[in-house]
Amino acid sequence: MSAPSEVPRYANPLRALPSVLGVPTHAAILSGRLRPDGAATEVETLLRLDPLALLGALRTMAAPALATRSVAAVDPPTVGSVVRQVGVATVVRLLSASGPGPVAAEALGTAWRQSLALAHAARRCAGQAVNFDPEAAYLLGLIANLPDWLAALRRDGSKPTSTEVRNCLRAWRLPQPVHNALVGRDPAWNVVLRGAVFLITDPTTAGEFEQAADTALAAVGLTHAIGGGGGATAAACAAGAHATPDALGRAMAELLGPKPTERYQGIIASLLGAARNHGGYDRALFAKLNPRGGMLTLQARCDGSPQPLTARRLRLPPADHERLQQSIRRREPTVLHLGADGADCLAAALAVDEVLAVPIQPDLSQPSFLLLDRGLCLAPIDIAHDAPLATMLGQVGTMLHENLLLRRRFARAQRFSLTDPLTHLFNRRMGVIALDQEVARTERTSRPLSLLMCDLDYFKRLNDTFGHAEGDRALQAVAEVLRKTVRKGDTICRLGGEEFLVVLPDTHPDDAAVLAARLFTAIHARGEELGLPLTVSIGLTAYRDDDTGERMMQRADHALYASKGQGRNRFSVDIEAGDDQVQPL
Ligand code: GH3
Ligand code: MG
Ligand code: MG
Repeated sequence: MSAPSEVPRYANPLRALPSVLGVPTHAAILSGRLRPDGAATEVETLLRLDPLALLGALRTMAAPALATRSVAAVDPPTVGSVVRQVGVATVVRLLSASGPGPVAAEALGTAWRQSLALAHAARRCAGQAVNFDPEAAYLLGLIANLPDWLAALRRDGSKPTSTEVRNCLRAWRLPQPVHNALVGRDPAWNVVLRGAVFLITDPTTAGEFEQAADTALAAVGLTHAIGGGGGATAAACAAGAHATPDALGRAMAELLGPKPTERYQGIIASLLGAARNHGGYDRALFAKLNPRGGMLTLQARCDGSPQPLTARRLRLPPADHERLQQSIRRREPTVLHLGADGADCLAAALAVDEVLAVPIQPDLSQPSFLLLDRGLCLAPIDIAHDAPLATMLGQVGTMLHENLLLRRRFARAQRFSLTDPLTHLFNRRMGVIALDQEVARTERTSRPLSLLMCDLDYFKRLNDTFGHAEGDRALQAVAEVLRKTVRKGDTICRLGGEEFLVVLPDTHPDDAAVLAARLFTAIHARGEELGLPLTVSIGLTAYRDDDTGERMMQRADHALYASKGQGRNRFSVDIEAGDDQVQPL
């Protein structure tokens, strides 16, 4: 684990700013409107006022590892399309982000008001003179004075150099059309921007756009003045974001709930949910690492996003790969940071400044990771605070996976020991168990129980004539006919060779006789389809008072023997005169 000073703490300088609506006094005013399940139009109205939340949304939307194809579209997005893309819950989180650094409140207030004025002016220009979507112009106008926002971060108020701005933009990986506009590569936007700057600085029109900005703020109950420091909120946010011992217990109880899931997807979903609910993370991803090639495959995500997960495979840069392998060796979580130069790395692909990677199943050849981030609320990941919950999630995740694997192996072994590998029917052992169970049930309930013993005719001859492989196929075909002909609760087993037993609970011998007739005609017909002389002889019996499974099988065998003696391809019954008197209750 490296000391925080070894890494650029905030490679993205905007990170130190709160969302303008994340300021406590504003949050209090807007608390009724900021609801994760709030209406999209309400959330859109608020996002239209907040350049920093909007930048965060654009960044989230264009995350290289998660973005959908439509994000790469040539046209710049509008505020409405951004809300639809990232989802209401994400925007609410972004609007409430408070940022960890102290804020130069006045500078921020001025920059904010300028942004709004520029957005209104850009919309006007786009609508009037140039062929540019006015709503897209509004969005770009709102974030166009990015350098001013960066300057607001500096205590001396100095403007950042163009290289600093470029690096910052590169690290953010905004949608291509937005990026092009911000670096001056979009001629149409350049025209709009020049016009908008003229409008907000010209004495005859400036007042109008300042008025538009104030009106927009007043409409949601805000004035332009930014009161309250972000620092205090940041502390509160960070405290809330970290897991308390209470949260650990609740997360554990949630994960080890009363009913173990039978699916890997279920385990992953509950791990991701517990991380989000109890660790204050905005997003939780589940990824599998191929340590040989350094490929990371994103398999699932939990972030309230309406978009499905696409672009799943990522090639890790060597530094990230090494860090993840180290995390596996040490069996402890690690933090991966965004580099200051915006170079390719996992954090950049996920559009976050830092991501907490928690190893799961470190002993497997392809271990997995939980990837957790607070990219929306901007509370920092502090390994000392985050490690307990993250480690617990990793260990419980590993345990749940192993547990499911063992249960599945056990079930498979059990299935294997009770089934016949050629036909996938139950084997003799299981057939006898099933029959004994039904006999016991019939004793208790006095409901009818019938039994069929089936033996293919002249099967030795079939093998000799057509070969053993053809004989095997015939056995599989017969199994298929049996499966299709009997009811769901009936049990079919291959007693051995070409003999089958069918246990028919709740079946009167008359009905069993109808079934037996259906069976031997169906098997004969299937044989004709296959071009094989396939017929079956059947012996039928039914439960008698104080019967046993063994005795029933002997009688069925006896009846079968009679069928063979009478020329085969038929069924015989071995039932007492009273057997057919057995009536359902
Ligand atoms: P019957 O009409 O009197 O029942 O004559 P049969 O030839 O069917 O009876 P027999 O018991 O003499 O021969 C059964 C044959 O079933 C012998 C054996 O080669 C064949 N058999 C048993 N198990 C398998 C198997 O798994 N695959 C194949 N292809 N044949 C099998
Ligand atoms: Mg036989
Ligand atoms: Mg036979």
